[in-house]
Amino acid sequence: MAATVFADLDAATMQTGAEGYGLIRDAAVAVEDGRIAWVGPEAEMPATWARAPRTGLGGRLMTPGLIDCHTHIVFGGSRAREFEMRLEGASYEQIARAGGGIASTVAATRAATEAELTAAALSRADTLIAEGVTVVEIKSGYGLDRETELRMLRAARAVARQRPVRVRTTFLGAHAVPPGQNADAYLDEVCLPTLRAAHAEGLVDAVDGFCEGIAFTPDQIARVFAAARDLNLPVKLHAEQLSHLGGTALAARMGALSADHVEYASVEDAAALARAGTVAVLLPGAFYTLRETQAPPLDAFRREGVAMAVATDWNPGSSPLGSLLLAMNMACTLFRLTPAEALAGTTRHAASALGLDDCGTIALGLRADLAVWDLTDPAELSYRIGGNPLHRRIYGGEA
Ligand SMILES: [Zn+2]
Repeated sequence: MAATVFADLDAATMQTGAEGYGLIRDAAVAVEDGRIAWVGPEAEMPATWARAPRTGLGGRLMTPGLIDCHTHIVFGGSRAREFEMRLEGASYEQIARAGGGIASTVAATRAATEAELTAAALSRADTLIAEGVTVVEIKSGYGLDRETELRMLRAARAVARQRPVRVRTTFLGAHAVPPGQNADAYLDEVCLPTLRAAHAEGLVDAVDGFCEGIAFTPDQIARVFAAARDLNLPVKLHAEQLSHLGGTALAARMGALSADHVEYASVEDAAALARAGTVAVLLPGAFYTLRETQAPPLDAFRREGVAMAVATDWNPGSSPLGSLLLAMNMACTLFRLTPAEALAGTTRHAASALGLDDCGTIALGLRADLAVWDLTDPAELSYRIGGNPLHRRIYGGEA
């Protein structure tokens, strides 16, 4: 591929160690073979790049392509009616009796073909892509049986083949205990054998679990993590969302890529995350939908130097949120992140939460996954509620 230069832009590079956004005014970015070959003030661009075709961006803001590092966008059915019933006054018990809750998503996902799951996930991926997302993580976890878990992961891989977006797949067989089953028996007989089968088929980039009173205990999650370690797969964990069970400490001890939700994490947990280099993934969409009141311990995270990512957690139950920009706004308004922290959370730290070191900042040698916005101030990305200021998305150097 020939070299290209993007110029007449302000670059929020988000580089490690840079202040705030790592902003370079009047910048240029040279791209060659899908990688960033040079970035800096245009006035200092080496003469070697002067002969390359130049695309002027009219003074617009460029950021790294956004990364949604926690989603569940492969699923069947809809929970809109359940949402409506609840607001019409139905109790949780009435909704459960009507087949609602995660059981309804499991039933609809089991009933869907791979083509149907893929089509629905593509539509959701398109919504994220339209906002400048270039990497999306997708979890399984609505099958809770071997065939459906595999089908979900195949659908997630299909998204990457059919759209210009990178997909990182996460096996989340330990999402919920299927109704009427014993948790330990489910792990031994279904979840762990399915993990090994999915890995053998090349469908798994990481392994996740849900450590909560309504799901799995830390001891049970530790068994899932041990199985992941045997397969050389990195782990992450839904931890400390609704109570403090010790999942965050477990994740840190196991060197997890991330601990996600973490509203009930303690000061000690924050120190453990920092020591382990485990990213805290903040999911304000679920906090908002469930009308939670306990926010994650931001002061402790900052004091200890915990890397914080922000994601949509897009799922049909607790976070039907199809906008990473809105997640950034919510993280600022509900959790008090600064806009610079929110943008780091959907770029550099989101890459770390997925174990990726070739994207997430605008820096020499990284993938040219970039977003160009009809904005001049990077704080506007978090400030706005609604609307989509994306001007152009560049994926692997291709506009
Ligand atoms: Zn989740």
